[in-house]
Amino acid sequence: HADTLGALRAELPDLDWTVEPIHLKRLSRDFHWFSPVLKRELDGKLADAVVCPRSEDELRAIVAGCARAGIPITVRGGGTGNYGQAVPLNGGLVIDMTALTGLVFARDGVARAQAGIKLAALDTLLRPQGWALRCVPSTYRIATLGGLFCGGFGGVGSINYGPLGAPGTILGIKLMTVEAEPRIVELRAPEAMRLAHTYGTNGIVLEIELALAPAQDWDEYLIAFDDERSAFAFAHTLACEPAIAKNEVALFSHEAAAYFSKLTPHRQAHEAIVIAAVARQSGETLAKLVANHGARIAWTQDAETARNSQHTLIEYCWNHTTLHALRGDKTITYLQTAYEYGREREQLDAIASAAGAEVLTHLEFIRDMQGRMTCVGLPLIRYTNDARLTELTRLHRSLGIKVNDPHVFTLEDGKHAGALDPAILDAKREYDPNQLLNPGKIRTVY
Ligand code: FAD
Repeated sequence: HADTLGALRAELPDLDWTVEPIHLKRLSRDFHWFSPVLKRELDGKLADAVVCPRSEDELRAIVAGCARAGIPITVRGGGTGNYGQAVPLNGGLVIDMTALTGLVFARDGVARAQAGIKLAALDTLLRPQGWALRCVPSTYRIATLGGLFCGGFGGVGSINYGPLGAPGTILGIKLMTVEAEPRIVELRAPEAMRLAHTYGTNGIVLEIELALAPAQDWDEYLIAFDDERSAFAFAHTLACEPAIAKNEVALFSHEAAAYFSKLTPHRQAHEAIVIAAVARQSGETLAKLVANHGARIAWTQDAETARNSQHTLIEYCWNHTTLHALRGDKTITYLQTAYEYGREREQLDAIASAAGAEVLTHLEFIRDMQGRMTCVGLPLIRYTNDARLTELTRLHRSLGIKVNDPHVFTLEDGKHAGALDPAILDAKREYDPNQLLNPGKIRTVY
């Protein structure tokens, strides 16, 4: 596509284009390298050019040009996705959305912002008005609102509000179609959810309107336990305790926690840990709960210090756990698991006895789509080869543990495993009729 893109660049010379190989390489990547399988499969995939539109009009001119010339488009936010979502499989153009950062409005617990705004930046704008995002990935400093909607799940705050996709958080979106005459379309939820977690395959999201949470200060606690079982009993109780206000509860086995080198001075080698973010007024109750469980608060910092520091306990949680582990041990990878409500303890025991030291516990407590308190996992896996990884996935599934496979890059093999919702494909036909958006990420022939 280099020639057609060259012509488009000549047609639109004032735009912010990038064609230097070193930058093309960086902007064609995300964090798929957490998976040894994706690392191999996506190695060397490269855009022919990257453009960073500074306005909707610039974006419209680019999209129209691509539609006329048949140039594939991969939309990119912060590039922190884990499944190669933002990696262009067939070259073409990467559209970097990170200059589209406007806050359209924020009032009465609702905000609307452009898709390229970073989540931390949006939270900073909302805080003076007393509001905050309901859930953010641990990559909130870099990840964008559009990237979270199109490629993410949820994270910190999901313990209160469930995943981003729980009804009531996303209220509406504005999108641009990929056609010679691009259209602007407004969708309210639930119709808007046809573009959620679809990797930018069925429309370019311009703005997102979402419901907010009241802003609160969350103090951070590192809590140490003699064994993983007591840590689980504590974490489950804390998660289920409605009067203790919290925003995050995560559990790590002592083997997983051993990868958190900066926390080493605070814990003994055999200790499992829980990381919790708890409201100030709940601190005293938390301390008593910790004592009742025979545990100890190993380290704590208040919300303001956490906010202003480059070292927050949140950035050990969610998939930051895998990042820390990979820094110290290149043989580590991970799975994404969901336990059956009410059977979490039993399933954890079953996988521990079936897989042993190959699976290192890392749990995140969240509300499920029915509003019940449960946990999901991002267990660390000691990777040996692809066949064993597949076997471990199968083993989890045979025990009734759901696995969203993070070692695949198509919608049908990942979150949308099984049959892809026809509504997603309808949106694709409507908003990307020439099939130019992120080609290769949908397998289904339609
Ligand atoms: P990108 O990676 O840039 O894009 C993601 C997908 O969305 C791509 O397919 C892209 O094409 C598409 N897209 C982006 N913007 C648009 C748009 N405007 N219109 C159409 N399509 C678009 N995820 C979680 O859910 N929870 C976590 O806690 C979490 N923790 C993580 C920790 C680490 C260390 C890492 C590396 C990843 C983690 N992730 C997590 C994954 C990822 O960070 C999040 O999903 C994040 O929200 C992605 O945002 P982004 O802007 O980086 O998206």
